[in-house]
Amino acid sequence: MEISDVVDFLRNYDGRSLRLMEVCGSHTHAIATHGIRDILSPKIELISGPGCPVCVTPTAYVDRLIELSLMPDTTVVTFGDLLRVPGSKESLNEAKGHGGSVEMVYSPMDVLALASAHPEKNYVFAAVGFETTAPVYTLLLDNAVAKNLKNIKILTALKTMPGAISYLCDNGAMIDGFIAPGHVSAITGADYFNGLAEKYQIPFVVSGFGDKELVIAIYGLVQMVINNQPQVKNFYTSVVDATENKIITSQLNKYFEPADVVWRGMGVIPHSGLVLKKEFARFDAGSVGLDEDNKKNKACRCGEILMGKASPVDCPLFGKVCTPMTPEGACMVSEEGSCFNAYLVRR
Ligand code: SF4
Repeated sequence: MEISDVVDFLRNYDGRSLRLMEVCGSHTHAIATHGIRDILSPKIELISGPGCPVCVTPTAYVDRLIELSLMPDTTVVTFGDLLRVPGSKESLNEAKGHGGSVEMVYSPMDVLALASAHPEKNYVFAAVGFETTAPVYTLLLDNAVAKNLKNIKILTALKTMPGAISYLCDNGAMIDGFIAPGHVSAITGADYFNGLAEKYQIPFVVSGFGDKELVIAIYGLVQMVINNQPQVKNFYTSVVDATENKIITSQLNKYFEPADVVWRGMGVIPHSGLVLKKEFARFDAGSVGLDEDNKKNKACRCGEILMGKASPVDCPLFGKVCTPMTPEGACMVSEEGSCFNAYLVRR
C-alpha cells in the first residue's frame, strides 16, 4: 500500500468516531509539528495524554525543589524545562530571583563536575522523567559511588507508564486505541503493553517520530480498532524490540523500586513511579511523601487535559493569561506539553 493510499484512507475515514491517544511528549510535539491532525478525518480524534514528564510533575515536587534551593549550601540542579513549571506559589526561576540557588544543566552527569569542584556544597538533582530518562540517573549514582562523592542527592519524581494508562482506562477516558510511547518502548520493549491491551481490550501501536512513521502507525491503529484486535503492534522495529533491554532494566532495578506516586492533576496512581531503594537512601533528597498537588491558578485544566477529558482550547486561560512565555500550568511549559503544542499550532 502506498503512503498516499494510507493518507487517503485516514482523510476519508467515515466509520464510527474514534478517540486515539498518544502518551509520549515527543509524539505530542511530532504530531503538532508534522501537522498530522490536518490529514485526519474529523471522525479520528488524536488526544495527547500524560506523556510529558514536566507536565505530570506535581506542584509539591516543585515546592520541595524551591525549599531545597533556599537552604544554605544547597544547589538544585535541573534541566531547563523544570525551571518555569509553576509550583503552588512560584516556579524555580522565580525562586532564583529571591536567592534560590539553581543550576541548569543539559545532562545529570554535569552534576559530577559541580560536586567534585565544590565539596563544601550539596547538589540535588531534580530527577523527573519516565522509564526513558530514569537510566541516566542510575549512571549518575554509579559515578557518585565510584568517585565517593557524598554531596550529591536526587529528588525523584520518576513515573512509569502502565499505571497511568490503567488509571486513564479505569477513570472514563474512553480511549479506543493508544500510540504507545516510542522512547519508553525502546527501554521496556513493545511487549510491556501486552497486559494492558488484553486487560482493557484496547489496541496499542508502537510508533517512531517521523511523519510517515506516525501516519502508518495511526493507520495500523485504526485498522486494529475497527477489526477489534486488542493487541500490541510494533511499527518502530528499527529501534524497539519485543522485549526489554535487560542491561538497562537491571540498572533500574538495582537502584529503584516501584511506588505509588502523585501525577499532576490526577492524584496518586498506584505503582506508577520509581523511588530509590532503602539501601540508597543516602542519595534521596526526600522524594517519598510528595503527595500534594495544589495548582497555582485554580482555573488551570491540566489534569483534565492530561486525562483526555478536555482540550487545551477548553481552558479559559489558554492563549490569554497562559502562553509559553507566561505559563500558568505545566502543560504550557515544555515543547512536549499539550497546551504548548496547541498554542504552537494556533500560531
Ligand atoms: S492553557 Fe495553561 S492554564 Fe490552561 S490548562 Fe493549559 S497550562 Fe493550564
